[in-house]
Amino acid sequence: MAAYALTAPAQVHLDITGSDEKFPVRRIYCIGKNYLAHIREMNADERDPPVIFMKPTDAIVKNGGDIPYPVFTNNYHYECELVVALKSGGYNIPEDEAEDHIFGYAVGLDMTRRDHQAEALAKGLPWEVTKGFDQSAPVGPITPVSDCGILRSGHVRFSVNGQVKQDADISLMIWKINEIISKLSEQHRLMPGDIIMTGTPAGVGAVVTGDVLDCHFDGLQPMQVRIGAKAA
Ligand code: MN
Repeated sequence: MAAYALTAPAQVHLDITGSDEKFPVRRIYCIGKNYLAHIREMNADERDPPVIFMKPTDAIVKNGGDIPYPVFTNNYHYECELVVALKSGGYNIPEDEAEDHIFGYAVGLDMTRRDHQAEALAKGLPWEVTKGFDQSAPVGPITPVSDCGILRSGHVRFSVNGQVKQDADISLMIWKINEIISKLSEQHRLMPGDIIMTGTPAGVGAVVTGDVLDCHFDGLQPMQVRIGAKAA
């Protein structure tokens, strides 16, 4: 083993329901513009293909507890999404084999600095400032396929302080999960430990310090986080 000059960062992981073993996270891929109603609320072009971007792995926040209101934004948005966790991968995975690579599923949040997204879009700038900031990827425990089966329908539901803000069936995704995996693998060699945020339905909005955020999907472990004081 190499002798590092600095303390090496710890492997980021997620809990697995019904197991003491952990899921080591390698990369976080995200799909944008994957529900028509959300594209319409964002006034985006309905004919564009869904967007692919990444978040840094250390943006993961596990279930529960506070996440600070981030620096460098005044319009901090939630996007509740179904998260797919991969046990294997490769390049150019055919759509009809894609589901064989799924380890399990979780609910998660693609937290977004919406003010900077507008600026990035307008100026054609990269998305790290809007999507890839610290603690921007809360993800709940992973439920293995052996417990929940392959998911092709079911409702993603999200509430703030008990008030429902998002509720949509994943069958409304423009790109289905097997298509997402296949398309991603045309661009990247997917690997065990990769997770994919599959896009948010309509109903996105801003949250502030003190808000309690609940993500839910029938058959999966729910996730709750609370927005804490501004990061310092
Ligand atoms: Mn998203």
